[in-house]
Amino acid sequence: MGMTLTEKILAKASGRSMVEPGENIWVNVDVLMTHDVCGPGTIGVFQREFGADAKVWDAEKIVLIPDHYIFTADERANRNVDILRDFAKEQGIKYFYDIIDKANFKANPDYKGVCHITLAQEGHTRPGEVLFGTDSHTCNAGAFGEFATGIGNTDAGFIMGTGKLLIKVPPTLRFILDGEMPSYLSAKDLILQIIGDIGVAGATYQTMEFAGEAVQRMTMEERMTLCNMVIEAGGKNGVIAPDETTFEYVRSRTNKPFEAVYTDSDAKCRDYRYDVSQLEPVVAQPHSPDNRALARECKDVKINRVYIGSCTGGKTTDFLNAAEVLKDRKVKVPTYLVPATQKVYEDLFKVKLAGQTLSEIFLNAGCIEPAAPSCAACLGGPKDTFGRVNEPEICVSTTNRNFPGRMGNKEAGIYLASPYTAAASALTGYVTDPREFI
Ligand code: SF4
Repeated sequence: MGMTLTEKILAKASGRSMVEPGENIWVNVDVLMTHDVCGPGTIGVFQREFGADAKVWDAEKIVLIPDHYIFTADERANRNVDILRDFAKEQGIKYFYDIIDKANFKANPDYKGVCHITLAQEGHTRPGEVLFGTDSHTCNAGAFGEFATGIGNTDAGFIMGTGKLLIKVPPTLRFILDGEMPSYLSAKDLILQIIGDIGVAGATYQTMEFAGEAVQRMTMEERMTLCNMVIEAGGKNGVIAPDETTFEYVRSRTNKPFEAVYTDSDAKCRDYRYDVSQLEPVVAQPHSPDNRALARECKDVKINRVYIGSCTGGKTTDFLNAAEVLKDRKVKVPTYLVPATQKVYEDLFKVKLAGQTLSEIFLNAGCIEPAAPSCAACLGGPKDTFGRVNEPEICVSTTNRNFPGRMGNKEAGIYLASPYTAAASALTGYVTDPREFI
């Protein structure tokens, strides 16, 4: 019996030739990421268990990324970033993407933005490797053909000291996405479709591998959108076989060597098949990512605002998609734009669509000026967070989670959607199928 891509990575990381689902194995970690929310807790566990003067296992394999609660006057939030900064200095951590000057972020070349997209853009996501992060959407990096998953502070503190972790090998569900992708659909529609089909517990502690010709044709950003949301179905990790698209993206960002692995033809997978040409734009209605409906079925839902941002829906491709819909039109509700990273932010002023920059298109459409890159209101955050839903309003959002209170107010209703659907909804003030404009 052959092995899956995930099993092969875990076998190699544990120094074995073969592993099987259900086995508990020790793996060597290639990268550990933590951010301002969980970093202080992780550092606390590390110092308590390994000693106040202990050194981390490898100062070049830990990536510290302030991104969640950073543009705020909240003192506890600011203190968290200070703790990361002190620890990075004391330990000589090579990759610490500091914010330093909160009022002047554009002048700071170290600052990057949301952790998962930063990891990719800075070359920390490489085929065949093992990446753990103290954030449930660490699964995003599976788009590069690596094993990537979220862990708690205790596990992360242990990795900081040892570079190892004990994990159980997950079985694999494989989603084969074939057919021609219609111009009005994006990867976000596909993953919301899948989560709607299998439910929020449908892939609990399993790998979700994405394959098929529609996936092969996707950019890395679209592949990330698929893998980012596997945790919303309970998935342990998401993964996509690396190919030329992957290699080109990774090699342009790092010289580190890597070894790609692939699922054997006789590996044990449970397969689900989709013809993407038959799918329609969908949303996840409040208050669960699996509460799927067709966008057109929700056309009577009046909305108060639109939010385009986050690691799931705040990449350059996402803004390009939104701009296609918004160009030469006017929004009817406040529309918030939060680029995931500094690179995406810069793209808004560089990338053009029919002669206009994305930023010009958005401002002409009446959107609110793009914010500094961060998680912003995706996770609610302190009251002064940009775009936070402070009232019991209805918001169409390109983020990944819509549990009560996720974006702030507990009575607010969040409709998760693709950038096309979010932009179309901004134009009408109702949840809107983007085919009305594309
Ligand atoms: S953008 Fe949202 S989902 Fe992504 S890391 Fe930040 S809070 Fe989490």
